Parts: sequence; structure tokens; C-alpha cells
Amino acid sequence: MKRITILCFIALLLLMSCTSTAKPPTYQEIMEQHPSQSAEGTASREEQDDQGAENSADPAAAEKAKLKEEHSKAVAAILSENRDAVFAETVYGPQTAVLCDGGIYLYTGGSIRLLNRRTGLLQGLCSDPLCRHDSCIESYHIYSMVSDGDRLYFKGNSTTYNGFSAQKWDSVSFVASYDPESDEFEMLDVWEKDRGSISTVIGLDVGSLYYTKKTDEDTNSLYRIPVSGGRAERLTPKGEFVQNFSVGPDRIYYTTQEYTLKSMNKSGDDVFELEQFICMTGFKGEDFYAISAKDEDGFAIFRNGEILPFRVFAPTWVSLTESAVWYTVPDKRSLGTYVDETGKTITIRTDNGTAFYGYDPSTGKITEFDCPFAYGVREFCGSIGNYLLIGALTEERGFSFWIFDPSDMSKAYQLFDYES
Ligand SMILES: [Zn+2]
Repeated sequence: MKRITILCFIALLLLMSCTSTAKPPTYQEIMEQHPSQSAEGTASREEQDDQGAENSADPAAAEKAKLKEEHSKAVAAILSENRDAVFAETVYGPQTAVLCDGGIYLYTGGSIRLLNRRTGLLQGLCSDPLCRHDSCIESYHIYSMVSDGDRLYFKGNSTTYNGFSAQKWDSVSFVASYDPESDEFEMLDVWEKDRGSISTVIGLDVGSLYYTKKTDEDTNSLYRIPVSGGRAERLTPKGEFVQNFSVGPDRIYYTTQEYTLKSMNKSGDDVFELEQFICMTGFKGEDFYAISAKDEDGFAIFRNGEILPFRVFAPTWVSLTESAVWYTVPDKRSLGTYVDETGKTITIRTDNGTAFYGYDPSTGKITEFDCPFAYGVREFCGSIGNYLLIGALTEERGFSFWIFDPSDMSKAYQLFDYES
């Protein structure tokens, strides 16, 4: 008993001496031993948690925002370094990109966007935060666009023609103009909404806008109206169904629902049939283009009556510049073959298209552009300096515009909306 007491006393002495001789632990040592109990340690963990929460909440959104910023900066740099741009028009008239009053405008899914040179982003035409968009350009669905360099012209329709008639039965079709300088939007002709699907074909010729009005199921007439405003004039005979048209230097050409190509003078007289089996025509300068109706190999293209050495599957995306005919074809790839029960060999194909082509009519040379950044190319829109502007299908089967350098595929940039 006594011995235990002595031992305890010695132990206590030893403990006391150890405690008194040891240096008190430094703040650093406390931190290292118990980081979670220190005030600063707790704070830094909270910071880490915050960052973790941000990343785990939507890492895809953060990545997308970063990509958008990178691409927009690159696009802004390209636009500021390249003032020269050449934009294409489709064979049947409308344009996807235009240069108008010094600005670049893009037709994108029902609306028109300005490509802002400073930000590299696409923005809506109406930026007035107080505008209710009930009588401005943003409130309409646009189907096609052309430009004479000073103004934009387009065909569209609306379910609310003005702020006072919001009923659906008041819906109208129209052709209108937009002046970028004054930011003025003006209706040129308004009529009861086209019966059935709207026909998008539209064209400009010396001070006049040409378009069709679908007044009933069997009639789609060609009209003309002065771009400065005035009376609309019907050019094709009553009852004629105009599928597509183009205005040449001397005469007007149009195709019917039966794929008959007809021609008339610019007063709408002297109508005669030219050919069968043509679905659309167009002019580039003096050159006359015609696209055949579809057969099993696709659509054939004729330039001044001569057949071009390729076929297309989407004639509405064949576009023309002075230097080339631009087109896309589905890049059908074989996934393998099998023999069916009748002994016939069947090949399974995908229709993924990733390439588009430029045909130079002066040399006959076809250039293939491989675009690895897109799922498929829909259309060529034009060039900005050495860069090409295209409409592409994204991997998610969405659609977006891209600017890329065909000689360096690492320089490929997507155009983003402000809001996307
Ligand atoms: Zn508005």
C-alpha cells in the first residue's frame, strides 16, 4: 500500500517535471496535430467545400462557360482583323449570312442575329430592355433573309401582328425590311397567313423584292413590291403554283409543283415552258444554275446548261459565291454487311456527314473540307478573311455556326448567342 503511494508520487513528480520542462506546443504544432480543430483549418475546409459544391453542382456548365469565353474572344479577334467578308446565297435566293451597313447578320432558326465584332457573340436585333417585342423584329418568326448591303429584307409570319391583336386567328405572313442605321423595322406587304407551310423563297432585283403568297392550297403566286414601299404586284398567272423562282438579268424563271421550268419577262408576260424535271433555279451574276428534281442518285446541278460533276442530297443548302459552288453531301459510312434470307448482301450505313465541298467552276476542281469539330456540316455561309463560316450540326444534334481556318483545324470556333 505504502509502496503504491510512493510509486504514484514518483510518477506524479515525473509527470510534473516533464510538463514543466517541455516547451509549450507552438501554434504550428497544434495545427499539424489537430488541423480540424483550428479556426483557420475550419475556414479553409469550408472554402474547399464551397469550391467542391460549385464544381459538383454543374461542372459541365462551368466548362461550357469557359469554352464560350475562349471562342468568343477568338471570334472577336478574327472579326477585328478581317474586315473583308464574302457571303453566299442559296441557289433559290435566301442568305444565311449577310454584310449589311458594315455589320454581319446571321439568319438563325426564325430570327436574325447581329454578330458583334467587339464581343464575338451573336445578339438579337432589339436590345431595348423596355421593349415588349410586340411590334419589333424580335416578335416575328423569320423564314428567309436577303440584303442589298444597306437594308435587310425578309419573309416571315406572326401570330401577333401588332400589340392590339394578340389572337391567334390574326396571324399574318409578311415581307418586311430592317434598316440597321436607324434600327427601323418596316412592313412592306402583309397578308392573311400563307395557307399550309410558308414558302421561303425570296429575291431582290433593282429596287424590288420578289416573294410568293400562298393564297390557297393550289395557288402560290409570285409577287413583287418596291423596296421603298408601294403596291404589291402579282406576276404569275392566276392559279399557278410557284415552287421556286429566280430573277435573272433579263427574265424571271420559276418552277411549278410539277417540276416544270417556266420563264417570263419582267412584266409577267410572254410565259413559256422551258424544261421538265427541274426543282429550282438561281443566278450568280450572268451564270444560270438549275437543280434537277430528285432521282435515285440525288439532285443534279446544271450551270449554264452543263451538268456539274457531283450530286447533292439537300438542294436548299447548295450555295453560290463568285468563286465556287458550295455543297454538302451525307458522308455515308459502312458499318458492315450481312446476307439476308434471300441471299442478298445488305450494307448497313450511317448518314453522318462531316465534310463539305467547294467546286470551282473555272478549274473544275473540287475541294473537300473535313470538319472534325462538328457532327455534320449543313451549309456554307461565307468567308471572313481566310476563315470559313459554316452552319454545322453539333454532336447533340443541335445546330450552331462555326468559324474555322481550313488550313489549321485547331482554329475552329463556335459562335454563341448572348444567352446560350
Ligand atoms: Zn423589341
